[in-house]
Amino acid sequence: MDRGLILIGALGRMGRALQEAALAAGQPVVGLVDRPELAGTPSPVDGISVRVCASWKDLVAPSRVVIDFSSPENTLSLLLSAKEHRMPLVIGTTGMGQAGEDALREASRHVPVVAAANYSVGVNLLLELVQKAASVLGASAYDAEIVEAHHKHKKDAPSGTALMLANALAKGRDVDLAQVASYGREGITGERTTGEIGIHAVRGGSVVGDHWVNFFGEGERIEIHHHAESRRTFADGAVRAAVWASDKVPGLYTMRHVLGFD
Ligand code: NAD
Repeated sequence: MDRGLILIGALGRMGRALQEAALAAGQPVVGLVDRPELAGTPSPVDGISVRVCASWKDLVAPSRVVIDFSSPENTLSLLLSAKEHRMPLVIGTTGMGQAGEDALREASRHVPVVAAANYSVGVNLLLELVQKAASVLGASAYDAEIVEAHHKHKKDAPSGTALMLANALAKGRDVDLAQVASYGREGITGERTTGEIGIHAVRGGSVVGDHWVNFFGEGERIEIHHHAESRRTFADGAVRAAVWASDKVPGLYTMRHVLGFD
């Protein structure tokens, strides 16, 4: 069987961007998978000749890498079948909660798994900057608030990226995020407590993804902002991760590994 990429969720917003990114990177796309009722649909992207399949089970081969940006239920089942299919996985689906964490760990015992709530190279650099800023500024003199904006179709909130940023912030301050996070305040909340990390989601229109990390001090405010203009930024990063993962030993990896930060 020929080597190449299998894209799951191939007819979705990210699936289409992934097909374009694979073409641009010269990576062969050997399989497209989407919901069974869409089987047989041709690719909407010029230059991709394969049609949509109902299941990755028809495409299993040792030299293939799977990129999955679909739905939590579908991604969980793919992860829990890793022992069976043995193909490296690049997972983009968000909103899987604790079950997702557990399934990622289980799959990574059998195959290399790259998991990232955001595959943009810029956002992954942002995580480094936020951790550094949080560590230098400290919790007592600067109040940290994260705001994220996404399109109206997004199903989970706050975004996986906002949570990654919040975790980077907490790491920089050497605190446990669960102890200090304050999600979308409402009502008589009382005064802001020192060390709190505020996290807020707004939704609307066609926004691809914006994240702001604010450090509010007395007399100054530092704002770190990332603006994604197109899904291609995530897709290019995911294809890069797939190429990287193709020859790795089983394990759970992030974009830090792919980009060589670790
Ligand atoms: P979308 O709704 O446009 O596309 C999802 C696709 O998955 C659809 O074509 C749908 O038919 C398909 N799908 C659903 N259930 C399936 C199943 N059982 N089997 C096969 N295919 C199935 O959504 P999207 O905007 O492309 O986002 C997809 C996921 O990727 C979401 O979880 C989103 O949050 C996430 N995402 C992650 C990143 C990142 O960088 N990690 C970036 C953007 C989006």
